[in-house]
Parts: sequence; C-alpha cells; structure tokens
Amino acid sequence: MCLLDLKGEKSVKQPIDPAAGTLAVWAGEEERIKQATQVPVFHSVAFGYHNLDQWLEVALGRQSGHIYSRNTNPTVGVFEEKVRRLEGAEAATSAASGMAVISAALFALLKPGDRVVSVRDTYGGTHQMFTEFLPRFHIQAVLCDTTDPEAIEAEIAAGCQLLYLESPTNPTCKVMDLKRLADAGHSAGAICIVDNTFATPINQNPLALGADLVLHSATKYLGGHADALGGVICGRRDLVEKIYHFREINGASLDPNAAYLLLRGMKTLHLRVRQQNASALAVARFLEAHPAVARVFYPGLESHPGHGIARRQMRGFGGMLSFMLADNRLEAVGRLLPRLRYAHAAANLGAVETIVGPPATTSHVECSAETRAAMGIPEGLIRYSTGIEETEDLIADLAQALACFEVG
Ligand SMILES: *Cc1c(COP(=O)(O)O)cnc(C)c1O
Repeated sequence: MCLLDLKGEKSVKQPIDPAAGTLAVWAGEEERIKQATQVPVFHSVAFGYHNLDQWLEVALGRQSGHIYSRNTNPTVGVFEEKVRRLEGAEAATSAASGMAVISAALFALLKPGDRVVSVRDTYGGTHQMFTEFLPRFHIQAVLCDTTDPEAIEAEIAAGCQLLYLESPTNPTCKVMDLKRLADAGHSAGAICIVDNTFATPINQNPLALGADLVLHSATKYLGGHADALGGVICGRRDLVEKIYHFREINGASLDPNAAYLLLRGMKTLHLRVRQQNASALAVARFLEAHPAVARVFYPGLESHPGHGIARRQMRGFGGMLSFMLADNRLEAVGRLLPRLRYAHAAANLGAVETIVGPPATTSHVECSAETRAAMGIPEGLIRYSTGIEETEDLIADLAQALACFEVG
C-alpha cells in the first residue's frame, strides 16, 4: 500500500504540481533503485532482515519496507504510487484485477445489514457482485436508473452506507453528475466510490469532485497494451487501509511482473488517451451521420443526454463509444465485425489496438439476455474501444465495413 507520508515526501517539496502527463512518466520513480532507469521487477516472495527490531518495525507498519509480497512488493508499490499521484489521492492499494479490487473494497467496507446504492449500468462483474454475492451476506444493493439523479438521491436518503458509481458507464456511456451524487452520499453519511476505468485520470478525477475512493481496472487504459491484469483503488487513507488489510488476507495481490507491465504502459497514458479522445469523437461523428447506424452513444456528442455534465466534470470524453446498427440484431453485428480490418473482436477495451465486441459476449457476458434487456443494452449494440491508430484509417475502415448494409 502506498501512503502519502511514506512515499509522497518528494512530491510535497515540489513547488508546483506537474501536469498529469509528467506525472505519468515520473511519479513514483523519482528515486532510482540502484541507478536503474527503469523500475526493476522484484520477483521475490519475501524480504529478509538481519536486525530483528527493524523487522518488527516494518512488520508493524511503523517503518517503510517489505516483508512478504502478498502484502507489499517494491514494484507493485511504484505502480500504486503512480496512480495515487495521478488521482491526487492520500493513499492507494492494488489487487490482481479490477474485479479483485472492487470485491476487496465491497467486502472490506460493508457488513451484514448495510445498504448499497448504485446504478443498473455498472460493469457486468460489479453488477453480479451486487445481485449474486452481497445478498448472501445480507447486504442489499439497490440499483437505480443511471440517468435519474432524483431517484438515486431518494434511495441514498432512505439509508445508505456505500454509494457506488461509474461514469461514463459500460457499454452505453451514460454520464452521472459525480459532484451532485457524492454530496448526496455524504449528507447521508455514505462512502462514495467511483469506478473511473473508462475516463482514466487523464480525463477525470472523481476525488476532486467529492468521491472518497476512485478505482480502476488497470487492465484497460492504465496498462493500455492488453497484456496484464490489475486493479487499483485510491483515496481516503483510512478506507484504503481497510481495503489493503482485506486484500493482504484475501490474497488477490497484484503480481510484480504485471505491475511492471502496467507501469511501462502508464508512461504513455496521456499520449494514448489524447489520441483516443480525438479519434473517438471523430468516429462518433462519422457513425452518427451514417445511414446504417441507428444510434451512437458517446458523451462527446452534443446529442448525448449527459454531454453537459460530461463537459463540466471531464477534461476529455474518452476513447469508448458504442453504437446500434439500424439492423438491431446480434446477427448483423456478426456480419459487420469480420469486415473490420483495424478492430480486434475481443472482450477487452482501453488498449492501443481498436477493439470491438457486443456486450453479450464481453462486458455483460455474466448477465442473461433478459438482464441485458432490463439494463437497456440492445442485442445489436457494438462497443467500440478506440485505439491509437490514425483517425482517418479507423473511419475509412468503418466506412468500408458498413457498406455491407447499404441496400439500393
Ligand atoms: C474491465 C472492467 C472492470 C473489471 O476489471 P478486470 O481487470 O477485468 O477485473 C471493472 N470496471 C470496468 C468499468 C471495467 O471496464
């Protein structure tokens, strides 16, 4: 776990806070280990001590250091520190995947009898935690209409220990007013968590909008190269300590090699996200004007119902969009996808390559077709994760593939 007072002293000395792109490259890496330019991968389960007193101090958390890699590891620590600085948080901790960090947060912060308020459009795995697992421990999760802040506020006021938000959402890119809802959560004494995976810290910082904790599936944009799984959560120190403690016991720790890959990916986070923001907007505008496309979901479009809120709380609208074909059947999606040359059909997002897939086989594979329908996810929806390819090539590729739908 990374804490402000243990690792952040150098940042405190800096006269001005550098911009996110500079932090993406430097944060956590100011202190070179054995003068190495890059962070070494500490493939070591344990760390030894000659001095028993020092060992005890480290074990009790009174002195910084490492004992056992299920708890902390130096490579993993640098990764946590980089995200902590990018999100402007007091503390950060990580886990083996996004879902590992989400479940650790829920199990560490909740107890039987508690009530969670969230929305219908959370990530599929999170939705499953709310509907399948939490109820077994007598924790109720109330899932509100994502686009109805009054309904969410009413459920918060009815009693709530944890408010769990995600914006923009997966896969229809709905946008929630994070400041407004975090304020409502705090008035009810609830902890507010935001899944910031889609936005990345380059486009949005939920802690600055009032959230207590912000989390990422680092598997997606933070790593950015679709080669490592990881999760990270940061925010209020007392809460991060509880989550860290649960995770060190639960054991779903981030592997040091994965942490290294995520760190390497993060050094180009700002460059990738800038390109993805620009391309996604251009692609969304192109699709919106295309006759074979019925609807485009992208917060950067003026036609998007959450556009105004997105403008206020985001610096960029992100690389994720989704669209519905005029022919709204899974079969039509099946015809289009093989025709795309520069889009990998897979259950992933946020990588350097453009990735496409229907929610039925990707984010919401855990849900039944009925649940997806109830969540407002059309079967013929295509999620499009914009990569870093040249914008005009992506548009030309979509144009040639969509031509298969033009009749007469
Ligand atoms: C992928 C994803 C997760 C889960 O992350 P994993 O690393 O796959 O466990 C959680 N939230 C969002 C928004 C995601 O896209």
